[in-house]
Amino acid sequence: MAWQSTVRDPRAARAEAMVLARSALRWVWLRRGTDVTASMARSSCLVVAPHPDDETLGCAVAVIRKRAVGTPVTVVIVSDGSRAEPVTLPPEELVEVRETETRRACAVLGVPETDVLFLGFPDSELGGALDAIALRLAEIIRARRPAQILMPASCEGHPDHDATHEAATRAAAAAEFTGQLLEYTVWLWTHWPWTRGYGTRDRSVTRLLVEPVRRLREGRPLLVDARGLRDRQRRALAEHVTQVGDGTPAGAGGPAGAGAAAGGPVDVPVTGSLLATLRSRHEVYVEAGALRHLDFPRPWRDAPPK
Ligand SMILES: [Zn+2]
Repeated sequence: MAWQSTVRDPRAARAEAMVLARSALRWVWLRRGTDVTASMARSSCLVVAPHPDDETLGCAVAVIRKRAVGTPVTVVIVSDGSRAEPVTLPPEELVEVRETETRRACAVLGVPETDVLFLGFPDSELGGALDAIALRLAEIIRARRPAQILMPASCEGHPDHDATHEAATRAAAAAEFTGQLLEYTVWLWTHWPWTRGYGTRDRSVTRLLVEPVRRLREGRPLLVDARGLRDRQRRALAEHVTQVGDGTPAGAGGPAGAGAAAGGPVDVPVTGSLLATLRSRHEVYVEAGALRHLDFPRPWRDAPPK
C-alpha cells in the first residue's frame, strides 16, 4: 500500500500558486476581451501548428465551430514530431505514429484527412529552416486561399513555436495574404504574464507586480466561446496517445477517431499551466503582432527586447 505524504512538496506548492496567480491575471485580462465566436465560425482558415497536437491544444474550439457550419479548415503540421518526450519509439516510427494520431485528432475536430498536411521539417530545428518553411506555407496559402491564418503567438517562448510564428508571418507576406492573421496560444500560458522574465531569476517588485498589471492593459484578447466544446477537445487530445497517455501508441488499423466514437470516458490528465486553460470558458487569440513587445531574443530577430 502506498504511503501518502501529508507534507507538501514546496516546489509543487509554488507551481500550484503560480498557476493560480496566472489564472487570476488571465481571468482579468479576458474580461477586457472581445467575443469573436460568430465571425470565427464563418471564416475559412489555415491552422499552422509547429508540432502534432498544437492544433488541438491551441485551436480546437475555433476549428470545431468552423467545421460545425461547414467552414473549410486546413491544418498544417510543420515539424515531424520526431523529438517528442517521452521517447518510446525510434524516430521514423514515431513520426508515422504521430501523423496517424494527428489525423485521428483532426477527425474528432471535424477536419477530414485530405485537409491535414504534414511538412515534415525536423522537430526542434525549425529555427534553422525558416525560409524553406515559409516557402511551403506560402504555396499552401496560395492554393487554399483561407480567409484566416491561425499561427502560434510570437512570444510563446518555445523555439519551434516562435520559429513557426516567424515562418508563417513571412509566408503571409510572400503570398500577399490580405486576410486575417491571428495568433493562438499554447506555451504562453506557462509563463504569461511574466513573459519577459521567463527563465530568469529576477524577483523584483517590477517583475512580479508592476509588469503583470501592465500586461492587463495590453491589446484586447479575442475570445471564442468554448462552452460545451472542451470535452470534444479533450477527446481529440486523447488521440495524441504518445503525448497524453502512457506513451504506448494505439493499435494500428483502428478507425479514425475511435476513442471519441466509442463514447466512453476518456481520461486525459489536465494539469499544470499548459492544460489548465483547457478548462477555460474561452479559447484565446490576439491580432498578429499584438504581443510582439514580449518577444524572446531569437537569432532571426534583429533587436531583441531588453
Ligand atoms: Zn508544440
